[in-house]
Amino acid sequence: MVKRVVIVGAGPSGVLLAHYLLRRDDRYYVELYERRSDPRTVAFSQSRTFPLVLNERGMKALSKLDGILAAVKAVSLESTGSLNHQKNGKTQLLGRRKPLLTLNRTQLVITLLKTLTEQYNSDRLNIHFDHQCKEVDFETKTVTFENTAANSRVEVTVDYDLLIGADGARSQVREQFLSTKDFELEQKYIPSAYKSIFVASEGVTSLKPGYIHTWRANNGILATLVHDINGSIGGVVSFPHKNNTIANLSTKEEVSQFFADYFPEIAQLLPESEAEAFLNRPISTILKIRCNRYHHGESVLLIGDAAHATSPSLGQGCNASFEDVAFFDQLLDEYSDNIAEAIAQFTLRRKPDTHALVELSDYAFPLSGKLLFFELFIRLRTAQFLHQLFPKYFSPSLFQLLSETTTPYSEILNSHQGWISKVKQANEKFLQTQH
Ligand SMILES: Cc1cc2nc3c(=O)[nH]c(=O)nc-3n(C[C@H](O)[C@H](O)[C@H](O)COP(=O)(O)OP(=O)(O)OC[C@H]3O[C@@H](n4cnc5c(N)ncnc54)[C@H](O)[C@@H]3O)c2cc1C
Repeated sequence: MVKRVVIVGAGPSGVLLAHYLLRRDDRYYVELYERRSDPRTVAFSQSRTFPLVLNERGMKALSKLDGILAAVKAVSLESTGSLNHQKNGKTQLLGRRKPLLTLNRTQLVITLLKTLTEQYNSDRLNIHFDHQCKEVDFETKTVTFENTAANSRVEVTVDYDLLIGADGARSQVREQFLSTKDFELEQKYIPSAYKSIFVASEGVTSLKPGYIHTWRANNGILATLVHDINGSIGGVVSFPHKNNTIANLSTKEEVSQFFADYFPEIAQLLPESEAEAFLNRPISTILKIRCNRYHHGESVLLIGDAAHATSPSLGQGCNASFEDVAFFDQLLDEYSDNIAEAIAQFTLRRKPDTHALVELSDYAFPLSGKLLFFELFIRLRTAQFLHQLFPKYFSPSLFQLLSETTTPYSEILNSHQGWISKVKQANEKFLQTQH
């Protein structure tokens, strides 16, 4: 019998899961509900979008579907390393053996949606934009959505055989788990908030294409910029949310002065119009999420950020979400599409890695401290060098393991526990000094 799957959230993980399920012959009929409007038809505001970096993990999950990795590559740029810009104008290069892909999050979702609707019609797939999940009833196996496009705020209730919560860090589906026995949730704002930034790109020679460009100030403020395939250059400025330096900027002149003081190279690329746009963009905060299980009963599963949102410092969230999807597909194979078994196994076998990812994302990067950054840089360069010379005896560096391999996150955490504990202590100390 065809199983009716309701996926809440058409972000990267929800849309990729629709691809994976629909490829399993005609065993699944998919209804995808998204609270936002269709990104293919609505011009997206730059306020909440940001560049994403896809690594080996994300690319591997995409490559298992015919033509999808190629479609994503067609809207991405390759990046062969990170260039850390220092105040004296010099740069430190952290090269990569395997190139990463950089692209805009909204562009990634548009590409996944386009390839999905080109392949499947309404006999197997229905997508409902402007539908916000309001309530889930596990007893009757129904979900209620409000149609936010219609002025009347019409509500629709639909039933499911399998419900997937792919609705991000503030998941409404996960909210319903809170009323179930023995469900534990830890949710916490990470210490850093961020604002998107877009700089002038025409004729810019100071930022080499093909690299992720970063600048760090000593007070925990970090700027990241990457080139987009459309020719623009954008990124984020992240900062400890207890530090009011950015929140207190009140005129475009103050914004320009802030960049001149902290990131002079960026200041030179910041037209007045962007200084004003930056001022008006909201500050976004980021939740980190840890749950003790990702499934409920025999028919509900959380994936992606809904299950394990993390700090974006390592650029792993979307990659890990894609790994979730490929792993769930593998479980459906292993358990011959027995959903109850597959979702229970998902919790059991995926949790050690996703919990490890949350820890790694919090503490792989120091928030401050010149000496620690220097130590990190030396550790990474030495590990890369030794691994290149004697691959049998020396494992790749921490960041190579994270981005250039699919080594389970729990193994990476175990083998780098010393560094993680050291940064944890330093970060906690640094945060106590922030007001
Ligand atoms: C600044 C920043 C930079 C990042 N950089 C990287 C990076 O370089 N690499 C990387 O791998 N990851 C990165 N991440 C993390 C990455 O964006 C997330 O891990 C990824 O988007 C998770 O995908 P998702 O589909 O699970 O959730 P989301 O992307 O959050 O998508 C959830 C979807 O559900 C919808 N939704 C929410 N609530 C409802 C509801 N009630 N009803 C219906 N729909 C709903 C939302 O509108 C959204 O479309 C970054 C994150 C941030 C904030």
